[in-house]
Amino acid sequence: MNQTNVLSGAKPALDARSGALLFYSEFDDPQEWEEALKAELPDLDFRVYPEVGDPADIRYVLAWKPFPGFFAPFANLELVVNLGAGIDSLAGRADLPDVPIARLSDPGMVTLMRSYVLFSVIRYARDIPAFEEAKRLRQWRYIHPRPLHRIKVGVMGLGHLGAAAAAALAEAGFDVSGWDHAPKEIAGVRCYSNSERDSFLSEVEVLVNMLPLTAETRGLIDESVFAALPQDAKFVNASRGPVVDEPALIEALQSGHLGGATLDVFWTEPLPADHPFWEMDNVLITPHLASITVPETAARDVAESIRRVGAGREPLHLVNPRRGY
Ligand code: NDP
Repeated sequence: MNQTNVLSGAKPALDARSGALLFYSEFDDPQEWEEALKAELPDLDFRVYPEVGDPADIRYVLAWKPFPGFFAPFANLELVVNLGAGIDSLAGRADLPDVPIARLSDPGMVTLMRSYVLFSVIRYARDIPAFEEAKRLRQWRYIHPRPLHRIKVGVMGLGHLGAAAAAALAEAGFDVSGWDHAPKEIAGVRCYSNSERDSFLSEVEVLVNMLPLTAETRGLIDESVFAALPQDAKFVNASRGPVVDEPALIEALQSGHLGGATLDVFWTEPLPADHPFWEMDNVLITPHLASITVPETAARDVAESIRRVGAGREPLHLVNPRRGY
């Protein structure tokens, strides 16, 4: 950064050798991203796939679920930013370039995820499904509300989003516990580690899954997890479908052991028309939108990562594709 920039507060410009950023996503609006990134890096050469130009110019890729072979033409790549939090679509790919891979973790994404988890848990805590049913039957059905501090909510996976969701639940007044590899420090949340799984589960009335999808977590929420929950517990899945053993979840819901589920993610998306979840009154389905990346807030981190990599430093939110998160 030169002296003028420091004094004027202007954003540091990229130099002419900084190369271009290539954007790829079937879900996100490139124009919104271009505007947000150019507010941070006015000189950024922003290109949108398939308008790549000379592949040798591409130094940075900002992409969501790029197709196999996507990276092959870009010999001068210095950074890949996954346009989202979960990197499961990149992890384990044979065609990943040997450059730092970063994820996004922007305040907008955290706020949206917090709101989804709060909504899902409060919906159960305040008996809303029962009132929706009563309305359909024209019944005035009084259910005495339970104080929130007596309702036990458990969050599995206490990373960027999981920890924020657990903290928000605690702040809202619930009795919150969390489970992760190792105990984490989160205000108002009792934290358990891997080896304490069954003690954690035995007291959870609403279980929220916030684990990333990795080789280790695939199918981790299985029959034994549902069996360890108390009768009539509820389940919320806001991370990835394959972390859950779907047939075991269906069985637990059909047997009545689980009282309900709120599901944003599934083994197959879009959820096939003949999937049993569509028929189940105690399942709320949302189409994988618990949270999204918000360009205005995420662009700051992407720009900072580009500056850092240009200066030979690590990007923000570096991930380990071999570990899977
Ligand atoms: P992070 O990568 O920040 O955190 C993951 C957490 O899970 C870490 O605390 C990690 O522990 C823990 N963990 C990983 N593997 C295990 C395991 N085998 N056993 C116990 N704990 C484990 O993820 P985020 O919180 O940011 O996001 C979670 C997931 O949410 C994302 O991976 C993504 O799939 C999903 N997501 C879903 C969205 C939606 O719209 N439905 C939107 C955005 C994200 P440690 O750090 O100790 O290793």
